[in-house]
Amino acid sequence: MLIPDFPFSYDEYLAHPDGLGSIPREQHGTEVAVVGAGMSGLVAAYELMKLGLKPVVYESAQLGGRLRGACQPGTGHPVADLGGMRFPRSARALFHYIDMLGLDTKPFPNPLTPASDSTVIEIAGRRHYAESSADLPQMFHDVAAAWQDCLEERSHFGAMQQAIADRDYRTIKKLWNELVPRLDDMSFSHYLATSKAFSSLPFEYREAFGLVGFGTGGWDTNFPDSMLEILRVVYVGAEDDHQRILGGAQRLPQLLWQHVPEDLAHWPSGTSLASLHGGSPRGAVRRIRRAEGPGDLIEITDRWGRTSTYPAVIATCQSWLLSARIDTDESLFSHHLWTAIERTHYMQSSKTFVVVDRPFWKDVDPETGQHVLSTTLTDRLTRGTYLLDDGPDKPALICLSYTWNDDALKWLPLDVEERVRLMLHSLKQIYPNVDIASHIIGDPVTISWEDDPDFMGAFSDNLPGHYRYQERLYSHFMQEGFAPSHRGIFLAGDDVSWTGGWAEGAVTTGLNAVWGVMTQLGGKTTAANPGPGDRFDELKPIRLG
Ligand code: FAD
Repeated sequence: MLIPDFPFSYDEYLAHPDGLGSIPREQHGTEVAVVGAGMSGLVAAYELMKLGLKPVVYESAQLGGRLRGACQPGTGHPVADLGGMRFPRSARALFHYIDMLGLDTKPFPNPLTPASDSTVIEIAGRRHYAESSADLPQMFHDVAAAWQDCLEERSHFGAMQQAIADRDYRTIKKLWNELVPRLDDMSFSHYLATSKAFSSLPFEYREAFGLVGFGTGGWDTNFPDSMLEILRVVYVGAEDDHQRILGGAQRLPQLLWQHVPEDLAHWPSGTSLASLHGGSPRGAVRRIRRAEGPGDLIEITDRWGRTSTYPAVIATCQSWLLSARIDTDESLFSHHLWTAIERTHYMQSSKTFVVVDRPFWKDVDPETGQHVLSTTLTDRLTRGTYLLDDGPDKPALICLSYTWNDDALKWLPLDVEERVRLMLHSLKQIYPNVDIASHIIGDPVTISWEDDPDFMGAFSDNLPGHYRYQERLYSHFMQEGFAPSHRGIFLAGDDVSWTGGWAEGAVTTGLNAVWGVMTQLGGKTTAANPGPGDRFDELKPIRLG
């Protein structure tokens, strides 16, 4: 995911034998606060520990944040990934940690992929069954061709993908820097509607594109987004080759917390984040402010009133929480940065899962010769239904409905029973002969991320005109020119990255913050392995007027 705004190769930085840098010996053991134990906070804490610093992690809910899973303990039931569940192979920095921890992955059963036995696309009451995209009517092939044409027509698609594959950052920057001012104000739907390819086709083609999209489906909920946001996703293949983590995505942050690195400075061998914290992170942060007295320290107070001071803080919780849930000293950030924080746009998202006795959807209906139930994309309430199994005779999972934005808001006031009943009703219209309910075991689980006070939204997503805000948030780890009052607190997390909604952005911004803390404490990288800040001037996102 070599993001064109800042095409720094984090995977190469992570893999280099010189490591991420070093800290002067006299700073070893210095405490650095990390707010949030999601993927970003844990990557940052893990790498700070390896540098010989002492991360102090605060977490208001569970380790793992939006990689949270749900399962019924003791039942052997599969784990439902309530947040991130499918990870593109191009997320190389994320896969650095997945591979390091020895986690097994397997292809995610996305619609129309080999991992999904079959797919049903139901639109405007018409049902199309396909075991591969070749089975779909011509209209869907025309839609796919129109999408490719409109990417090429206005966004140098082929040239950009080639430049990314070649890691040719000069070409990437040249192509992208021309597009940013041209497309920042343009919505995804406007881009499609005014393209030569789609404007010559009836409206139904755009509707079908909105349902099926590219890769995972459901892209019409992103029609209001800035087109730049969509291009980032397709350029870097974020919608392709998705893997799921066996045993649940939350295993990744949990194992990182316990992992004992071999090559760490200062700490005795056997040290892990868990051992540094006596097993658990500290509780929720309630207040962040500049400490009185010398040294420009930052003071953090947790939910129990315990106050500690730090020379540096990495804040990885969703940025809105810094004003809405944490009493954060306004003077820690410039007004420009606060504006960017408040203007961040979060998508809503809801998921509802049921455990079933077995993957019965693989049964074939003797009358039709089709699987009795398929991965389903529909314009009904449920929108996306995904089928997940771990073998023929084991309990399996159905994600009855995965929705975003308005489709997610429809579920918000309903409790889990009402949600499941309505979802089963919707699916009954598509599969009149299948009794899904008769296979359900255990309790259903549901989530609406916007309803959870530790998140307030699922993930950030730029609207037209938001480039400037994202540029401020992303570049915040470069603090050299900042007023002293604005230094020492570093923002990280996927909402600060150029790829909100992708765990890769959580990892890479965590690494940016580590670079920022390291240099602030007098440390540095080696010449052979420059870090994101060392190459910032060369690669930095352009600034719009
Ligand atoms: P978080 O995980 O939000 O971590 C921040 C942490 O801060 C949380 O644990 C929170 O509890 C904690 N916190 C909040 N307030 C405080 C406080 N006051 N004090 C202390 N701690 C606090 N990514 C993919 O790559 N692929 C996907 O398929 C995918 N799908 C997704 C689907 C959904 C529905 C959602 C919600 C996310 C999805 N993502 C996906 C995105 C991925 O989950 C995130 O990018 C990643 O988990 C974010 O990590 P983070 O550390 O930046 O933030």
